[in-house]
Amino acid sequence: MSQQLPGAHATKILQEADRLMTVCNSCRYCEGLCAVFPAMEMRRSFSDGDLNYLANLCHACGACYTDCQFSPPHEFNVNVPRTLAIARAESWAAYAWPSALSGLFARNGLVVSIICALSIAAFIYGFVAFRDPRILLGVHTGPGAFYELMPHGAMAGLFGAAFLYAILALAMGLRAFWRDIGEPAGTLTDPPSLWQAMKEAGQLRYLDGGGIGCVNEDEHPTDRRKIYHHLTFYGFLLCFASTSVATLYHYLLAREAPYAWWDLPVVLGTFGGIGLLIGPVGLFGQKFKRDAALVDEKRAGMDTAFTLMLLLTSITGLALLFWRDTAAMGPLLALHLGVVFALFVTLPYGKFVHGLYRFAALVRYARERRMMGHGT
Ligand code: SF4
Ligand code: SF4
Repeated sequence: MSQQLPGAHATKILQEADRLMTVCNSCRYCEGLCAVFPAMEMRRSFSDGDLNYLANLCHACGACYTDCQFSPPHEFNVNVPRTLAIARAESWAAYAWPSALSGLFARNGLVVSIICALSIAAFIYGFVAFRDPRILLGVHTGPGAFYELMPHGAMAGLFGAAFLYAILALAMGLRAFWRDIGEPAGTLTDPPSLWQAMKEAGQLRYLDGGGIGCVNEDEHPTDRRKIYHHLTFYGFLLCFASTSVATLYHYLLAREAPYAWWDLPVVLGTFGGIGLLIGPVGLFGQKFKRDAALVDEKRAGMDTAFTLMLLLTSITGLALLFWRDTAAMGPLLALHLGVVFALFVTLPYGKFVHGLYRFAALVRYARERRMMGHGT
């Protein structure tokens, strides 16, 4: 746990978060809205790690801003959602591994756009340069059709390396977060806490403003943001499952892609792709309606970049499925692989990390509650 003087913080936003949490700890009007306020009430003072923990526990539902009698124009100027959103984003940059790449969080939209464009261009160049150039616009069908453009070994090696790098960088970031909040490593392997956190993350339990819905654009709460987030999250998981099953098919059953429309990898990928289409489009719609007072406007590019990358993954994947037996297959494969590769390598430096740190914060919260003798 970080050693620091009470009330002294590393950044201005943590100073402001401390001020707000101190006001809220006296008021406690919002204690039934989410996990943040009960976790706050377990403390009398707040270290940097405590505030980063609370910031990552917040689901940005906006209810505590709408309900607050001290929100602007009141002189107390209490805006918990926005303050915690900024603190949260600054914490992600501080935990980034390697730390030299923490700046990628600041100009994330631009960085992701450039990496995505370069990645697509590299796949097109690779298809043309290392195989017969005419192959890019040729018609290839049947098992192994994709590998006429890029050998399976090269594809698996490239994406395996990108995936392993992303896992390593995310794990190192999580380690830094865990150390910062002063939690013992054993909590992350505590089955009751893990199970409780999985249920709460799987339901997005705290994105409901205490049961009334998400306060997004005005004072009328709805569940739309939660529904679109569910479609995005479960769509992503289904697409990941599709790729995993296809890998098992290849290595265990010696069956090469592309597969028939009724085969498990295609069924999982199609449902996942539809979720990843509707979810991000819905989230974009909600984003543009969101009350500007709740938003960390400096990170709008990062939010947009991540949602757009998920949407592009889905669009290019579904387009590849529909037109894989035509001459469009080569360019579509380059587009899809380029987008997915860029998504993988930028995962540790963008909005994706919110899921990791929020889940970890929920694990800690579950353990704290049990230690305090509270139920679920
Ligand atoms: S956000 Fe406002 S109403 Fe809610 S606990 Fe804090 S000070 Fe009280
Ligand atoms: S925005 Fe929602 S989740 Fe975040 S602290 Fe306020 S009520 Fe809790």
